[in-house]
Amino acid sequence: MALGIADMAVFCKKKGFVYPNSEIYGGISGFWDYGHLGSELKNNLKQMWWKFHVHSREDIVGIDGSIITHPKVWVASGHVESFVDILLECTKCRERYRGDQLVEDVLKISADGMKADDINKLVRENKIHCRKCGSALGEASPFNLMFSTEIGASGGLKSYLRPETAQLIFTNFKLVEEHARMKLPFGIAQMGKAFRNEISPRDFLFRCREFEQMEIEYFIHPNQTGKCPFLNEVEDMEVNIFSAEMQENNKPHSPMKLKDAVKKKIIQTPWHAYFLGLEISWFTSLGVNQQHLRARQHLRTEKSHYALDTWDLEYKFPFGWKELLGMANRTDYDLKAHSEHSKKDLSIFDEESKQKVIPHVVCEPSLGVDRAFLVFLFDAYNNDEARGNIVLKLHPKIAPIKVGVFPLVNKLDGEARKAFESLKRNFYCFYDRSGSIGRRYARADEIGIPYCVTIDFETLKDNSVTIRDRDTTEQVRVKIDGLPSFIEGLINGKPFGR
Ligand code: ATP
Repeated sequence: MALGIADMAVFCKKKGFVYPNSEIYGGISGFWDYGHLGSELKNNLKQMWWKFHVHSREDIVGIDGSIITHPKVWVASGHVESFVDILLECTKCRERYRGDQLVEDVLKISADGMKADDINKLVRENKIHCRKCGSALGEASPFNLMFSTEIGASGGLKSYLRPETAQLIFTNFKLVEEHARMKLPFGIAQMGKAFRNEISPRDFLFRCREFEQMEIEYFIHPNQTGKCPFLNEVEDMEVNIFSAEMQENNKPHSPMKLKDAVKKKIIQTPWHAYFLGLEISWFTSLGVNQQHLRARQHLRTEKSHYALDTWDLEYKFPFGWKELLGMANRTDYDLKAHSEHSKKDLSIFDEESKQKVIPHVVCEPSLGVDRAFLVFLFDAYNNDEARGNIVLKLHPKIAPIKVGVFPLVNKLDGEARKAFESLKRNFYCFYDRSGSIGRRYARADEIGIPYCVTIDFETLKDNSVTIRDRDTTEQVRVKIDGLPSFIEGLINGKPFGR
């Protein structure tokens, strides 16, 4: 039977990946704590994201902005006025529902972006009642998702925990452009916590009230929208495309080369196609099956008012295709809004065109770390019936523990410890001497350790050890001296056994 989201939550708790927050006090909905393996996996995937998007290129630099900021930031960005979901409350038991989700669940239609009036109409017309007690639902109303707080001892200034990381990129835009000496086109990346008081957090890590995002705002000269110098890197990639037109006509998604999607104007700018290709290749380079990903265009009704074109990268979760990453073309909306509200000029001088411009954000790839974490786990999870245990086939680069070190018998403890000490200078390793060797392999498989090293009696004679590959169970003998570079090679993609 396919693994459901609740099964994944159970697995994550049992193996020390993720725990329900404050469970000893009964827990609190929408908050999760990462355990020792979970925090390793999360840190690894964040590092890999930063390396791929920032360190390996010249046109993107990073910042790390604060969580609480001046409240005027959230007025200018429009969050104070319109960062809302539609709330429905039961008139009897007071159970609360997110309007669009309830309508989607009951009527099996897309309700993303619907206003309170539309939800009210659908609730009345379809006689939708409280799912818990069956009573009538009250009038739908907008509910602002920002957590508010007060700054200072006298509590004089009301502000908010940031609901997204992006706005800090806009407020620091001019400083970064100047100090990092960036020239258009360029991007600013950021990762960190975001907070949303979700009406109904659910589906484990998929919808939390505290989560992390990894975002890029990519700025271009406004007259360069049609020219992306990087498109050739991804244009031949075949991607599952689910355009607005396909959705409106009830057609399924279909594979298409990115260059064809641009040529046919399905994807409006080559930049959007480039970033879709880039983000998909980040996931696939770390082991995600591309068939589990698709690019879905926002329908006119769900697009934010400022966005020219928006695509979501969706993943095939056990509860359906759902957003993993959002990618809006935000034009100059945010820089203009902050210029107007702060009365500071946020335009920059573009040396190539010799013009002062307010750059356009042609694409804003915004990925939830916790959703990405779930994707890597779902794609890696294998219940290997032949082996009789779960094999978590995480890519070695993100696997929490890279190497398991085992003495075949306890008598070899001293020798095995020596190998362990030398390996742990290079990799995060795990030493295990309890139980049969088969049981130790199974334990390592279940937490995704890609390589296990066993020290046996031969080791005493020839200074070599057995190394086992998690995914194939293939084994080869390697000299202890060469072990770190052998493992380094494997992590970087060298085929096993060579
Ligand atoms: P949704 O429609 O699922 O509520 P959204 O469109 O509001 O998402 P964005 O504002 O585009 O989401 O946020 C960018 C990314 O941040 C999302 O694609 C997702 O990966 C992540 N994210 C957003 N809200 C949450 C949440 N409550 N819990 C976990 N991750 C989230």
